Amino acid sequence: HHQAPANTAAITVNSPEQMGELGRRLAKILRPGDLVMLTGELGAGKTTLTRGLGEGLGVRGAVTSPTFVIARVHPPLGAGPALVHVDAYRLGGGLDEMEDLDLDVSLPDSVIVVEWGDGKVEELSDDRLHVVIDRAVGDTADEVREVTLRGLGARWTEADLAALSA
Ligand code: ADP
Ligand code: MG
Repeated sequence: HHQAPANTAAITVNSPEQMGELGRRLAKILRPGDLVMLTGELGAGKTTLTRGLGEGLGVRGAVTSPTFVIARVHPPLGAGPALVHVDAYRLGGGLDEMEDLDLDVSLPDSVIVVEWGDGKVEELSDDRLHVVIDRAVGDTADEVREVTLRGLGARWTEADLAALSA
């Protein structure tokens, strides 16, 4: 038995509904300017998690797979932050290109969720929440996911991660 680093959490998610619930829980602790990076193969559940997150934040528009656009802005319905949902798959060089997208939104006032962003969007912030979603080994029904959350930077405390595992 080894002690996990304080700023990580491992969560087993048993259904798409539970993945949405995890997203809603995550939304409660997110703040404007937060960067969340989602890693996982196609069909892992990155967009499903983001949909729950959008519900939790209370934003306009359906959160869908942004495959045919690089980024979609979901304005807040109330006083909270906008959700900027990025599919970085076809984002070649990273940030310059993202700035070129000319999103009609202030990124420091938004929550930014990036799928396929590894190696591309880290420059956006030293404070990041990395979420890795893996299919569970031997789950023939393909319904179980192992979610590993890792907070980088002073923004993400042990208490934040504990709140997500609860
Ligand atoms: P990604 O964005 O990672 O490609 P999606 O969220 O678009 O993945 O799709 C995930 C698919 O897997 C959906 O069809 C969803 O219903 C299904 N699924 C099954 N079990 C789960 C689970 N535990 N969490 C998330 N999605 C799941
Ligand atoms: Mg997706």
